[in-house]
Amino acid sequence: MHEARTRSTTEVRGRLVLRNGNREATNIDYLVRRTPRARGLRLTVDPRRGLVVTIPPASRPGWKRPDDRIEGFLREREAWVVRHLGRLERERAAVASLGGAADGGRIHFRGELHHVRVEPASPGRRRSTVERVGAEAYLRMSKAKLVAKDDYGELWSAPRKGDSPLLLVKVVNSSPEPDGSFLDYYLRVPGTAQQPARVCATCGTNIATVPTTARAAVAWTFRACEDHYRPRVQT
Ligand SMILES: [Zn+2]
Repeated sequence: MHEARTRSTTEVRGRLVLRNGNREATNIDYLVRRTPRARGLRLTVDPRRGLVVTIPPASRPGWKRPDDRIEGFLREREAWVVRHLGRLERERAAVASLGGAADGGRIHFRGELHHVRVEPASPGRRRSTVERVGAEAYLRMSKAKLVAKDDYGELWSAPRKGDSPLLLVKVVNSSPEPDGSFLDYYLRVPGTAQQPARVCATCGTNIATVPTTARAAVAWTFRACEDHYRPRVQT
């Protein structure tokens, strides 16, 4: 088992073998991510990391040995898991066949040809109304670098010719889709300090800078400095 620690978040790889009747066994590989922000078990399909199971830390009552709980959860949702992992495989194959996603490029996504485009977040808007680009942004960022990662998300930077880098922070939507899945959201944040004036709405600190952490990036979208970005606990 491979284990990686980043501050309070712990990640462990897991594998579930599904056997249905006489069919061949299907291996479901997943990442178990423990974070203090988790209130229960959450299942997401991440374009880059695949199936991610997010659970509370081992110190939380009832979560010391979560293997049975995770396996039971996955088995109950076997159809969903298999369907979404299959979709992810097809999307990856489609992107590879198109040579990846370049600026202004085209990709097949959910059966349709999409022009790849990332919209800037509207200033002062709440996360839920920020332009959602989901996998498209991820694909556009396929040559991007992970700048920083914390409990608030991942900060990605993609180089652009003759321009400042495209900086995006990836967060997972806290509300499930109708099918119970959670979609990733990419919020665009400034890749350069050459940006309109912007100050923390609480303390007036200048936040018209280039965020260096995912938390600072998310805070920026809420017009807050890191100290004054206090998300409500989400269930
Ligand atoms: Zn502040």
